Amino acid sequence: MRREIDMTKYIFVAGGVMSGIGKGIAVSSIGRILKSKGLKVTAIKIDPYINVDAGTMNPVEHGEVFVTDDGTECDQDVGNYERFLGENIYDGNYLTTGRVYQAVINRERNLEYGGRCVEVVPDIPNEVISRIKKAGKKTGSDIVLIEIGGTVGEYQNMLFLEAARMIRLSHPKDVLFILVSYLPVPKKIGEMKTKPTQYAVRTLNSAGIQPDMILARSVISLDDARKKKISIFCNVSPKDVISAPDIDSIYEVPLNFEKENLGNRILNRLGIRKKTENDLKNWENFVEAIKTSKEIVKIGIVGKYFETGKFTLMDSYISVIEAIKHAAYLYKRKPIIFWLSADDFEKKPEKMKELKNYNGIIVPGGFGNRGTEGKIKTIEFCRKEKIPFLGLCLGLQLAIIEFAKNKCGIKNATSAEFAGKSKTAEKIIDAMPEQKVLLREKRYGGTMRLGAYNCAVKPGTIAFRAYGGKDSNVLIISERHRHRYELNNDYRDVLEKNGLIFSGINPEKDLVEIIELKDHPFFVATQFHPEFKSRPLEPHPLFKEFIRVAMK
Ligand code: GLN
Repeated sequence: MRREIDMTKYIFVAGGVMSGIGKGIAVSSIGRILKSKGLKVTAIKIDPYINVDAGTMNPVEHGEVFVTDDGTECDQDVGNYERFLGENIYDGNYLTTGRVYQAVINRERNLEYGGRCVEVVPDIPNEVISRIKKAGKKTGSDIVLIEIGGTVGEYQNMLFLEAARMIRLSHPKDVLFILVSYLPVPKKIGEMKTKPTQYAVRTLNSAGIQPDMILARSVISLDDARKKKISIFCNVSPKDVISAPDIDSIYEVPLNFEKENLGNRILNRLGIRKKTENDLKNWENFVEAIKTSKEIVKIGIVGKYFETGKFTLMDSYISVIEAIKHAAYLYKRKPIIFWLSADDFEKKPEKMKELKNYNGIIVPGGFGNRGTEGKIKTIEFCRKEKIPFLGLCLGLQLAIIEFAKNKCGIKNATSAEFAGKSKTAEKIIDAMPEQKVLLREKRYGGTMRLGAYNCAVKPGTIAFRAYGGKDSNVLIISERHRHRYELNNDYRDVLEKNGLIFSGINPEKDLVEIIELKDHPFFVATQFHPEFKSRPLEPHPLFKEFIRVAMK
């Protein structure tokens, strides 16, 4: 692959003061800016935990598990990278402590260290460095952005900072270090305080790293006095102290950074002569739509991962939320998302009629039995009351169970996931034979049906129209998966006879991927997760069609 510059450049981004201040969005935004200057950019996420990937983590604790085309179950930040960069991110771009140690230990067992003593330093940072370089090479990138998870000063990410220090030592001109820090404005004091950031920089210094730039997150913009203070005490030029105030939409962040000339500063520091003029035009148009869309479209999401308040819920379904936004803003509509608790509908069925207040309902993915009864009732209501409905993964499985129970008279229809030891259960949704072996052997990590698979979309269906199918040629699409269970093909005939349409089929294994109903404005569900492929400048076809119909 031809690169725009002769040496790959590496930009490390770490966080100071506290977590949750938007490092991921900062990395994504920097990526978008550099891409807009004609450079090929990729981004790497480093999560310091022992888990090999995010697949085994509870969404309430960790937020959404994002899935890449090649089937990596990773942190939701990777979703932001893809959405902002408009590029696919691959397995090699995701590092965890677990992954790194596992690789080093495997190599040691295979005698690949030539009999020498394998040590935490330098062997672990060396493994990190080699992965970072490999990811840059594989994607043919000019710039590799590396987000180091956690906050400087944590024991957990020390070895990753050590890797950053070592790579800078060997490539002094090609590495930039950015600290995303937080500046509190305590109410009683009424002034923005720089001291926590000064301490964060000292901590970073003690790891042998001097940041080149500081992105100063705060509720408001930085004034010149604060810039000067940070510059003097943290040893960076005032031009490299970038103000990053809170704003309404994450998509505005690249534009805000550009107001501070961040892109050119980075190119300058890395010795890259500016390639093309800044081309953020389409991005600006999208942000303009966010700011100016007035008419609303109300979408209800029936979920269950929100035990610790609505913020967790937002994190658990972030790709779904973003996909709704991308599609709605395309039509200049302001999406208002309502969180509906599946448990609530189970306990208080009279609440169900509130569903009529929404323009459309989504039943997203999920695991385990809890909340499924409420979701099935929701789906039944949407089917009968002709409310636009989009089911995602578990949403498809439950839509099929609902249809089997209420339209085909299969009263005990259920999924093997919830059936337990019941002898009478009819497992309309069942694990495939290879999945049964994995479950029996308790091999859970990274073993679901993951990543991109093909799907043949049937001409004449809603899905076919949505994906832009022409004439009567079968359309092959590719979408991302994350599930263990499938529609049991033994039940296909009876479901079809009663009017369920199988509009998408995986051709290799003959698995049902998309279902829909006739005589309904929009009743579509997918076994895959379309939300993972939606991007601000390329909204997903099914979300587009769902919103288009919901708007009516
Ligand atoms: N729990 C279901 C399965 O494993 C659905 C998964 C999902 O919604 N992502 O098949």
